[in-house]
Amino acid sequence: MIERSQKDTLAPQYPTPPFVSQPQPAPGLASKMIPVPDHGETSYRGSGRLAGRKALITGGDSGIGRAVAIAYAREGADVAIGYLPEEESDAAEVIKLIEAEGRKAVALPGDIRSEAFCEKLVEEAVSQLGGLDILVNNAGRQQYNESILTLSTEDFDATFKTNVYAMFWITRAAVKHLPPGASIINTSSVQAYQPSPILLDYAQTKAAIVAFTKALAQQLGEKGIRVNAIAPGPYWTVLQPSGGQPDEKVKQFGASAPLGRPGQPVEIAPLYVTMASAENSYASGQVWCSDGGTGTV
Ligand code: NAD
Ligand code: MG
Repeated sequence: MIERSQKDTLAPQYPTPPFVSQPQPAPGLASKMIPVPDHGETSYRGSGRLAGRKALITGGDSGIGRAVAIAYAREGADVAIGYLPEEESDAAEVIKLIEAEGRKAVALPGDIRSEAFCEKLVEEAVSQLGGLDILVNNAGRQQYNESILTLSTEDFDATFKTNVYAMFWITRAAVKHLPPGASIINTSSVQAYQPSPILLDYAQTKAAIVAFTKALAQQLGEKGIRVNAIAPGPYWTVLQPSGGQPDEKVKQFGASAPLGRPGQPVEIAPLYVTMASAENSYASGQVWCSDGGTGTV
């Protein structure tokens, strides 16, 4: 039995702003961030809370989705991840980390703005994992735009396709495979409640995710399937320097949170573990927030 010292169980001192300028084209690579985010690669410790479970995580290559993939594998789950083909190098690192836990890892590259791909994604995950009992809708598009006058229909459409339509298509395809006790977890945002002026399209999609979660939880309750959303505050992921925020905001990212810094992806993974776990079997239709002290939700 390994004794944990107090030093091990106190939160580490994570990086604080200012950060260096680091623009990347979307969707960006986590491996190129300065500093590289902590997704739990060396820090997350599991304790069998998801033993034998089978999870599909969209956007599992980087950021929050990667942290969730690592945590789920360390908690004993087999994990399939969806991501875009240009993110293959980030995804390959995650696949290795899942396999290092002795768990099955399934890589499913493709663009979820396609309904046909969303259906294929779920069918592949189910057939390669041998079933499915956790679905994490986490992939997202965030591109800032200063004015409604410059927000194109193409951009608006791409944000809604990625964040809203894909969640609907993937969830609809998954529901028929989910057994009683299964859990669906959607990634919303504090933007659903306190929208930034430069995220007009994105903030709407995150509010839609809250309503989807609350309505679906009522539909699926009788099947014993729980549906929850998680609303992150500012988390240090490549979504931000790849067009999610202007460069000046990336340099100060997280400064206005009471904790004075952005969250690291590993710090939100425990919420996704808890919401997937059978220990939390009465929690459904809720939004769980982790925002560094602002108290948004
Ligand atoms: P991230 O860029 O690391 O992850 C987003 C992932 O979405 C990408 O890795 C990519 O694989 C996937 N994706 C995007 N478009 C896709 C498409 N067309 N097809 C397939 N996959 C696609 O950034 P993240 O911050 O970890 O984002 C994860 C979720 O967290 C998103 O839904 C985001 O809106 C949400 N979120 C993030 C923050 C934050 O501060 N980072 C705050 C609130 C909510
Ligand atoms: Mg990525």
